[in-house]
Amino acid sequence: MLEPAYQVDVVIVGAGIAGLSAAHRLTSAGVTTAVLEAAPYAGGRMSTEKVDGFRLDRIGQLLSTSYPELRLTPGLDALAVRRFAPGVLLHRDGRAQRALPPAGGGGARGARGALHVVRALAGAPRGAAGTPGRTAAPVGGAVDQARLGAALGRIAATPVERILARPEMPAGQALAQRGVPARTIDGFLRPLLAALLCDPELSTSSRCADLALRAFASGRLCVPEGGAEMLPELLARGLPPGTVRTGVRVTSVSTTRVSTAEHGEIHCRAVLLATDARAAAELLPGLRVPDFHPVTVVHHTTDDPAAAFSAGTSLLLDADRGGPVAHTAVLSNVDPSRAPAGRVLISSTVLGPPPQGVDTAVRIHLSRLYGTSTRRWETLAVHHTPEAVPAMRPPHDLRRPVRLLAGLYVCGDHRDTSTVQGALHSAHRAASAILADLGAAGSMHTADPTPTLPRAA
Ligand SMILES: Cc1cc2nc3c(=O)[nH]c(=O)nc-3n(C[C@H](O)[C@H](O)[C@H](O)COP(=O)(O)OP(=O)(O)OC[C@H]3O[C@@H](n4cnc5c(N)ncnc54)[C@H](O)[C@@H]3O)c2cc1C
Repeated sequence: MLEPAYQVDVVIVGAGIAGLSAAHRLTSAGVTTAVLEAAPYAGGRMSTEKVDGFRLDRIGQLLSTSYPELRLTPGLDALAVRRFAPGVLLHRDGRAQRALPPAGGGGARGARGALHVVRALAGAPRGAAGTPGRTAAPVGGAVDQARLGAALGRIAATPVERILARPEMPAGQALAQRGVPARTIDGFLRPLLAALLCDPELSTSSRCADLALRAFASGRLCVPEGGAEMLPELLARGLPPGTVRTGVRVTSVSTTRVSTAEHGEIHCRAVLLATDARAAAELLPGLRVPDFHPVTVVHHTTDDPAAAFSAGTSLLLDADRGGPVAHTAVLSNVDPSRAPAGRVLISSTVLGPPPQGVDTAVRIHLSRLYGTSTRRWETLAVHHTPEAVPAMRPPHDLRRPVRLLAGLYVCGDHRDTSTVQGALHSAHRAASAILADLGAAGSMHTADPTPTLPRAA
């Protein structure tokens, strides 16, 4: 039989940030691509809901200015990020104090080599532990802080490949084996890593936890200005018109063809699966499906100035685990574009299965964290994602192969680390493998790729 004419060089399944960034790299190299997306919109997990002028992310987004792929991904050059205040605010025993990483950590003001705990959260209630003679800070005394600061400084300077060569075990076990005092783990490292990895039990691979600490110590926590959707939006904007087709569910794939539920078949020279892990395994049985960490994000607004000002632009972590909220921020202070003028947006993240009546439980907890009544706060949205973040339990291969066969490739956060950085990096690797296999140096196909498919909304 004659081969059917190719309609497009590469079909990419899934218009999350992995699929879109791979499309960017391929089209820049002259390879025609069609990105097929089952949902009515592009962006995948990085979507932003608009409610009464608020921009509400599904995800409790924490990026780091040190994520290399934010700089390396073509199409994201125009991405603006809004930085949190240096370090984090830790709430413990009724007190909140700022922990700054060592100097160099994205411009933090802490003394070089020491974790610096500087001040209580204005307005936070003071418990017994705040009185003289009791533990001075959530992470312990001056010696503990100096040790922790030195360890963070060292990890910031450690090359990634050296971290990946270390023995691997659950992060909680690794911290205990390294002799880190329990008060430092519980007061600082557990709440920080829980927030960065969406894993309050610290069951994540110690290598991935070290990479997260490295990113924290060498950069600043930040969010995309305008909401999580700005990343996929910028990536999609840079693609040739008609490349992204939404509302197209792919039902099967091979090296030279994809079938769709309602739009027939598309012939191509290669297929890149850029879906989430579960959808990838449905299309290619045999691909591993990891466990997932469920995440719930609750958005509130209030006209109470106490909440608006007390936390400033900080990320507030609960070291007490005194309620469902793992971390919270007055996001409109960090990124004013997320709320209408004069309104406050408070976004809080619950890790694990949410409790019954999650909004009430969150409000009670937030009243302790912000030191103010939350009874009159208005709930804007509760977003629950049961399969939010692929778990990275040891052994975790964060360079999982992206080339399955010549002509069949897979990328997404489940092939790397379960982060924006991981999704983008896996796409970078997949696009390089495709270009190497196609021997691509110029356009292989010039016709309108998929004229029968609907265009992106
Ligand atoms: C609640 C939550 C909190 C998070 N917090 C953070 C954080 O703080 N920091 C961080 O770095 N990361 C965080 N993440 C993770 C980050 O959002 C993801 O790693 C990243 O968005 C994954 O992108 P992706 O392109 O790999 O996958 P996705 O965004 O899942 O994209 C896959 C796309 O494939 C489409 N698709 C699936 N099946 C088909 C099919 N058959 N046909 C066509 N299309 C299909 C889907 O509709 C989807 O659009 C969080 C995620 C969630 C949900």
